[in-house]
Amino acid sequence: DSKDYDREVTSVCPFCGVGCQLSFKVKDNKIKYVTGVDGPANESRLCVKGRFGFDYIDHPHRLTKPLIRRADAPKGLNVDPGNPLSHFREASWEEALDFAARGLADLRAQKGSYVAGFGSAKCSNEEAYLFQKLIRQGFGHNNVDHCTRLCHASSVSALLENVGSGAVTATFNEIENADVAIVIGCNPIENHPVAATYFKQFTKRGGKLIVCDPRGVGMGRFATHRLQFKPGADVSMLNAMMHVIVEEGLYDQAYIDQFTENWEEMKAHLADYSPEKMEPICGIAAGELRDAARTFAAGKAGMIFWGMGVSQHIHGTDNSRCLISLALMTGNVGKPGAGLHPLRGQNNVQGASDAGLIPMFLPDYQSVTDDGVRSAFTSVWNSGDFSNQKGLTVVEIMHAIHDGDIRGMYILGENPAMSDPDVDHARAALAMLEHLVVQDIFLTETANYADVILPASAWAEKTGTVTNTNRQVQMGRPAVAPPGQAKEDWWIEVELARRLGLDWNYSHPSEVFAEMKRNMKSLDNITWARLEGEAVTYPSLSPEDPGQAIVFGDGFPRANKRARFTPAKIVEPDERPDADYPFVLITGRQLEHWHTGSMTRRASVLDAVEPEANCSMHPATLRAMGIEPGDMIRLTTRRGSVQVMVRADRAIAQDNVFLPFAYVEAAANILTNAALDPYGKIPEFKYAAVKVEKA
Ligand code: SF4
Repeated sequence: DSKDYDREVTSVCPFCGVGCQLSFKVKDNKIKYVTGVDGPANESRLCVKGRFGFDYIDHPHRLTKPLIRRADAPKGLNVDPGNPLSHFREASWEEALDFAARGLADLRAQKGSYVAGFGSAKCSNEEAYLFQKLIRQGFGHNNVDHCTRLCHASSVSALLENVGSGAVTATFNEIENADVAIVIGCNPIENHPVAATYFKQFTKRGGKLIVCDPRGVGMGRFATHRLQFKPGADVSMLNAMMHVIVEEGLYDQAYIDQFTENWEEMKAHLADYSPEKMEPICGIAAGELRDAARTFAAGKAGMIFWGMGVSQHIHGTDNSRCLISLALMTGNVGKPGAGLHPLRGQNNVQGASDAGLIPMFLPDYQSVTDDGVRSAFTSVWNSGDFSNQKGLTVVEIMHAIHDGDIRGMYILGENPAMSDPDVDHARAALAMLEHLVVQDIFLTETANYADVILPASAWAEKTGTVTNTNRQVQMGRPAVAPPGQAKEDWWIEVELARRLGLDWNYSHPSEVFAEMKRNMKSLDNITWARLEGEAVTYPSLSPEDPGQAIVFGDGFPRANKRARFTPAKIVEPDERPDADYPFVLITGRQLEHWHTGSMTRRASVLDAVEPEANCSMHPATLRAMGIEPGDMIRLTTRRGSVQVMVRADRAIAQDNVFLPFAYVEAAANILTNAALDPYGKIPEFKYAAVKVEKA
């Protein structure tokens, strides 16, 4: 009803990587409600977060003034709940920015690479670009990373290695042209709900859906094949499926000959992985593995979707290598209804990665070790060279703090005091920092360790472009003004950069976007003016081209234009259950809560639906242990312990525990293992040996 509001603003949802377009209905500088808009990814659909998750913007916890830590106030989470800001005093922007810059500049003057930065996949492309530029230009090194390291870093590593590009080869909407699909290691009904609606429609049309996950995820209700495999057994299961395709000659020889390399080595490797041999390892009967393999190979066009269940392992890169090989051998890249699609988590994790918020890559995945690449950037930046060494990644930075090699940080919109693995280790690291600058919209757990806090804008309060899981670049627009003295992130970055001696003169994000285009071929034919009127999928081949939903139909962006088969061997999880820790802990998200909960736990509707930390176990296991659903239990791993309410859920295997990671009072990452995948440097969030006791 138009009487309900006096303005409407079209923008993009701030939560997940699906990138739904929406319309904010605004009255008196308040978002009254939200409706879906006919964007390329969502066609007017929204999930519960997009529709009802916005009043966090008006929450009384919003930071409205710059804050500086009081002398001698302790760092950490032990704040007074009645007065959570008591460890800080209010400051003017001038004082806070001077203080923030001075501490970082003092560390820079000591000639070590002592400063690191975490940017944010919840900021715009322009803000991500400025952040990595600030660290590289301002400090001369590449110690800059963001949550992609905890998300799809291993998927990107495998895609760059074997396909030559880290982004999806086809939009998820392409499933409407597929007749078979694999959904593995993800739970789209809860985590990418609007994408899941397209998957459900696909099955209604008769599409064959193969759902593979250690949990019986909701998508399984729509599946023709459900493979509930053992946690961490992805490689054995996928190699067995590919073994069948080779053994029965179901591969696409013409595609392999024209577009790939290393096929003979791959075939020889797979000989060792028969379904019968892999059955006890992955827990799926050989006959089911054969059926699933035949079904996928028989499809005329097939897509593969995956999530953190694939990527967050010490063998995450190997898992993705298998999925890439499976698509290649069946000719399922580069044609309608076919493709590889790692479903991105945060709303702008694709864009922030594209913009160079990564320690080994400048924008567009151009290597920091390449002298020509660095020189192209320093020429645009009008500055001297910076290090040709890859920087430290998220978990490596926490180790470096403990070792005294990193002594100061600038953290924008990330919450490592909740999101890092083995989080007590990360919290201890944050407490050791000599100077921590945090820029955020709330006093996050991480901000409790800050020396200075810079109050920033929520997504609905600022202008900037954002890139979703489909490679669709879209315009985010401000619907309301930031509260109090809070500022847009790009403005804060510019002010901080100037105080660090950088000659930055941007007055609007469009100027940053124009600079990005000078060294980012992915943005060819995409202009700010175009994005004001339409979403554009990159690559866009002309100013009129809406962009390529499917890529690599005529070869791959690798030296010989061929994609590569890279065989993957079975690597055991870093730790296994034993008599002391007999269960396997899997962490993940819930529909209502987003990541560390800083936004959604302050959204009244979402918090009302899921107000309490919870975990899930199989009812038979609970019965055997004398535990009732609703009881409090204690979960303990080799790193720590949490107490949490338990629910009964038949979807959880009898020797597994599922624990969402949004709840600070039972922080899942106290329990998780920081062991890293050697290629993507992603931690093994999805597997830890855990003990379960009645609390
Ligand atoms: Fe927002 Fe993702 Fe839900 Fe779409 S599916 S409304 S982008 S949270």
